[in-house]
Amino acid sequence: MDLWITEYQTKNLSIGCRVVRTLYREKTPYQEVMVVETLQFGRMLLLDGIIQTTVEDEFVYHEMITHVGLNTLKNPRRVLVIGGGDGGTVREVLKHKSVEKVTLVEIDDKVIEASRQFLPEISCGLNDPRAEVLVADGIKHVKDNKNTYDMIIVDSTDPIGPAVGLFGAEFYKDVYDALTENGLFVAQTESPFFNRDLIPRVFADIKSIFPMARLFTANVPTYPGGLWSFTMGTRKYDPLEVDIKSIPAMNTRYYSPEIHGACLVLQPFVRELVK
Ligand code: SAM
Repeated sequence: MDLWITEYQTKNLSIGCRVVRTLYREKTPYQEVMVVETLQFGRMLLLDGIIQTTVEDEFVYHEMITHVGLNTLKNPRRVLVIGGGDGGTVREVLKHKSVEKVTLVEIDDKVIEASRQFLPEISCGLNDPRAEVLVADGIKHVKDNKNTYDMIIVDSTDPIGPAVGLFGAEFYKDVYDALTENGLFVAQTESPFFNRDLIPRVFADIKSIFPMARLFTANVPTYPGGLWSFTMGTRKYDPLEVDIKSIPAMNTRYYSPEIHGACLVLQPFVRELVK
């Protein structure tokens, strides 16, 4: 039998992958959680039919949402990950020796359950003694925890359902307050090809709240358009001013000191979006 899974990435564009089997499928109060095994990308996590991560290409997104920010800071100790129930971002945060504690706040426990069961190479960090896993709404968590985190990572789904509020100015104000004095935050901010309204709006909101906003990109084959954006709001340190020679050697496959510098150099059409 010829089984395929199709994600409709825009009204007029889809990506299809040949599927060997379905490993997990459950409807939760928030979304439909699914793990399938594909021939091209290995095991794949989907939420409401939208690809979140795959065993083959997850390293790009998880390394980039984590290391550009953490290597901009001096000895970050406390890190918060909002969303990210697959655990890939937590795994990357734990590569930093200065981090004493990483708190994951994921709204849907079934995402964590499915990832623990079927994506162990991604979720492995969730079992680390330095990791704290909370099932809660990240929007409320930042409101309730002022001046607590050196870095906050918003590893969210697209701006629909429970993630809508994670893309709003009110949330960014609370993120600013939840950071320590010199802290910074990074959010995944979608595709420069297909989200040309969202990226400028989010960038402007962050710039109006933080002294500095920066955009960077990475290539994620399974995300719409392949090119993905991340937006940083920083209270003090500028990722562009990091001396890349001082970045310690890390066990990474996409991020490197050179990529740290290069990812912040924006393609002219992306620069236009945030000018
Ligand atoms: N790498 C992914 C991407 O860009 O496609 C994101 C993956 S991660 C699985 C996204 C997670 O954010 C989901 O598991 C979802 O349940 C969670 N999420 C959405 N809104 C949330 C909220 N308000 N608080 C905490 N977690 C939330």
